[in-house]
Amino acid sequence: MKIVVVGAGIIGVTTAYELATRGHEVTLLDARAGAGLETSYANGGQLGASEVAPWAGPEVPWQVLRWLGRIDAPFRLALKSDPEQWQWLLRFLMRCRSSARAERIAPNLALALLSQARMDEISTHLNNDPITFDEKRAGILQIFHRPKGLAAAATAIDAMNGDGLEQKVLSPRECVELEPALEHALASGSIAGGIFCASDRSGDAYKYTKQLAERAQKLGVAFVTGAEVTGFEAQGDRITGVKTRAWMFSADAVVLAAGVHTTRLARECGVRIPVYPLKGYSVTLPVDGVVAPQVSLTDEARKVVVSRLGNRLRTAGTAEVSGYDTEIDMRRARSVLDATMAIFPQMAPVADKAEYWTGLRPMSSDGSPILGQAGRFKNLYLNTGHGSLGWTLAHGSAVGLADLICGSPTLIDLSPFAIKRFSFI
Ligand SMILES: Cc1cc2nc3c(=O)[nH]c(=O)nc-3n(C[C@H](O)[C@H](O)[C@H](O)COP(=O)(O)OP(=O)(O)OC[C@H]3O[C@@H](n4cnc5c(N)ncnc54)[C@H](O)[C@@H]3O)c2cc1C
Repeated sequence: MKIVVVGAGIIGVTTAYELATRGHEVTLLDARAGAGLETSYANGGQLGASEVAPWAGPEVPWQVLRWLGRIDAPFRLALKSDPEQWQWLLRFLMRCRSSARAERIAPNLALALLSQARMDEISTHLNNDPITFDEKRAGILQIFHRPKGLAAAATAIDAMNGDGLEQKVLSPRECVELEPALEHALASGSIAGGIFCASDRSGDAYKYTKQLAERAQKLGVAFVTGAEVTGFEAQGDRITGVKTRAWMFSADAVVLAAGVHTTRLARECGVRIPVYPLKGYSVTLPVDGVVAPQVSLTDEARKVVVSRLGNRLRTAGTAEVSGYDTEIDMRRARSVLDATMAIFPQMAPVADKAEYWTGLRPMSSDGSPILGQAGRFKNLYLNTGHGSLGWTLAHGSAVGLADLICGSPTLIDLSPFAIKRFSFI
């Protein structure tokens, strides 16, 4: 089959790779000059099966109210006269229940574990031509400032442990034994304990995406850059072509994997999806001459994640519902640097070398991606809505979607990710 994949972020590139390994004639289109240059560029780096719980939860509306008006709030709402934003917000608020969050954990976890397994298989397969992406297999440690927060999170790990993930609760001292760079944080009293998942990993999503796109090209994928998709051609119940400003690409099947822009492209095909941008920031620091962590961390109170990427340390955080704007607001970007310095004050000497970045998470309202066929066109597929988990879930989503397109049995149940779960479809 001739398959056109729109978008060469981590999701589109893994999808193109999977389809090519199954013998399809794949064309990968991206508006930018290369792969991974939008949201997959400088994310938090966590490949975190332990982090798959949706963000929507009972505490979120109160936190948003408490932080209202604070420019450095971890979660910020900038309301617009935009029906897309309001509809998404309403759906998101309706998911701010414990039961709604719990319902999504098992499917997300299955997808994350499938991702991890598939990434390992590909790495074995590419043994002679390995992808180098500052990978660390040192686990992810979630740290908590208050015993109450730790106790609440600890009750939730049993279910995940039952579903194949091993996590354990650590005392404050055990956290520092595991990650000595936390010594200062312990001394300042900001660690009440942690939850550690040894099988989790971290790595640079951009380096990985770029190199996997190159490996996909070696498998025969035609990767066309500078190709902004502007529309589609259809006959009956099938899409027959994908239009860019300069070209028309004929297609037997089309996959939309264009991150936050998938919403608009899907709408062109008559499909509404509740995926909206959740803006976040990252700060990358050199670690020369300072004691920096090796283990990837999540600070539950400060709402940041930290990953060691070779000789760099990256902290990412903040979520802002403010539309499609990608300007860097230095007040918000600095709040991520401030969080880094609060956890690792020993890194103050390198603070002035910080590199700031912002990206838009393609967030579905319920915290799970949307995978599979969509709308009246039988050959139109979606792979989007991964929100804060795109790096973690990419390979599982790609392998699942490729199996669906080929009509092969899928390795996990993909029905929880179908567009049908949203009522307006
Ligand atoms: C601050 C931050 C921290 C994060 N931390 C983590 C983390 O630690 N772990 C994790 O798992 N995830 C994390 N994420 C989430 C993760 O980065 C995203 O889920 C993931 O990058 C989304 O990938 P994507 O391929 O869907 O989108 P993108 O990477 O944005 O790719 C979409 C591509 O589509 C192209 N495109 C768009 N429109 C068109 C068009 N019309 N025509 C042609 N091409 C088009 C774009 O140019 C782009 O290359 C984080 C995100 C942010 C913002």
